[in-house]
Amino acid sequence: MSDVSSYDVCIVGGGMIGAALGCALGDSGMRVAVLEAQLPDEIDADDPPDLRVSAITRASQNLFAAVGAWPGMVARRVSPYRHMTVWDARGEGQIEFDAADVGEDDLGYIIENRVVQLALLARLRGFENVELIAPCRLGHIDWHDAGARVELDDGRILDTRLVVGADGARSRVREMAGIGTQGWNYDQHGLVCAVRPEFSHRNTAWQRFLATGPLAFLPLSDGRCSIVWSTSPEEIERLQGLSDAEFSRALAEALDYRLGQVLEVGPRAAFPLRLMNAEEYVAPGLALVGDAAHNIHPLAGQGANLGFMDVAALAEVLNDAYLRKRNLGGLPTLRRYARWRKGEVLTMMAAMDGLKRLFGSGVSGVGNLRRLGLSITNSTILLKGILTRRAMGLAGDLPGLARRN
Ligand SMILES: Cc1cc2nc3c(=O)[nH]c(=O)nc-3n(C[C@H](O)[C@H](O)[C@H](O)COP(=O)(O)OP(=O)(O)OC[C@H]3O[C@@H](n4cnc5c(N)ncnc54)[C@H](O)[C@@H]3O)c2cc1C
Repeated sequence: MSDVSSYDVCIVGGGMIGAALGCALGDSGMRVAVLEAQLPDEIDADDPPDLRVSAITRASQNLFAAVGAWPGMVARRVSPYRHMTVWDARGEGQIEFDAADVGEDDLGYIIENRVVQLALLARLRGFENVELIAPCRLGHIDWHDAGARVELDDGRILDTRLVVGADGARSRVREMAGIGTQGWNYDQHGLVCAVRPEFSHRNTAWQRFLATGPLAFLPLSDGRCSIVWSTSPEEIERLQGLSDAEFSRALAEALDYRLGQVLEVGPRAAFPLRLMNAEEYVAPGLALVGDAAHNIHPLAGQGANLGFMDVAALAEVLNDAYLRKRNLGGLPTLRRYARWRKGEVLTMMAAMDGLKRLFGSGVSGVGNLRRLGLSITNSTILLKGILTRRAMGLAGDLPGLARRN
């Protein structure tokens, strides 16, 4: 006979987003399972930086602090950035943001994805009501009136009132639920790599808009920078084929030598970039969070942050429903989450897509507009303050867990 366990919530995916949701439901009284296919290896202080890093907003940091995972990130390694400089390769336009202008110590943190995930998973293990089932392979899911039956490849069966798909962009949960997606591929890939520049990065996030796409240098704690170079697939192939010395020269030139030469480059990897939004974020017995629900262009480093706000919103809705003894997997409960997040995600998608097009256009009228826009914004303190607060994730309808504790 198969082994059947019962849960209130079964989260498929223990990446950064799924692990954060597990923590946000810690001590809630609900029985929670987090299923993860592959656990990450622990990071040693002298390990070179990972390829995948995220610019973490203040709102996401507030969530990590509220669930008790922030100290675990600081103990591993995090890198605050205090300034941001954005400029256009085709003209004079430049804009600078400074944490001091909005009365803050920093604008956010650059953190390796593995550090975020490890700290959240470590915290999650401390909650008695949350069970991490890993490594495991998902078999299939059958939804029924009272929730769903989740079957693992090893024969284990989990009965749950709600399944949460936190299993990334190619979500099998989304696919099994028959939820389609809308969106398009940008004709761009993002090349990522850790590099050591000649000059100090001065805790500044640097971003230059080239005609072919944006190039970002994000400051890391050991003096290196994590770069994201978004450009055409053909150009990515060319860059991937360069020797380290040639790639270093290309990179220094593309950043207009703002950090001097590039002295050292690590391994390179590239990811296709797309805009994707799931047609529905919820269905009876199902909610989608993070990349399973939406993907955006990484040019303003907001993808994972959107996912963390999904987590904070869904946890708030579920905690509220649980206290009121409402059906956790029922549409009246889940629609509150979907309505809340869809509006926020669409606003961010439109902003990122607009920026991508504005800076990607070679039409001269658009170039003038871009220059004018950057100079006006740079000299208007009020507008800059509004943009800075938005970039820190502090604007919009923030869930309680994402507000300052
Ligand atoms: C080049 C690049 C740069 C980026 N920079 C930033 C940035 O600066 N800031 C930012 O906010 N965002 C950034 N993003 C976006 C960010 O990386 C993603 O939004 C984030 O990683 C999504 O996390 P997730 O947990 O939803 O999905 P994933 O990271 O894909 O995690 C999914 C997890 O589910 C597990 N899983 C999958 N299927 C199953 C299954 N069947 N059973 C069990 N487990 C399963 C996987 O093992 C994995 O651990 C960037 C993206 C790119 C491509």
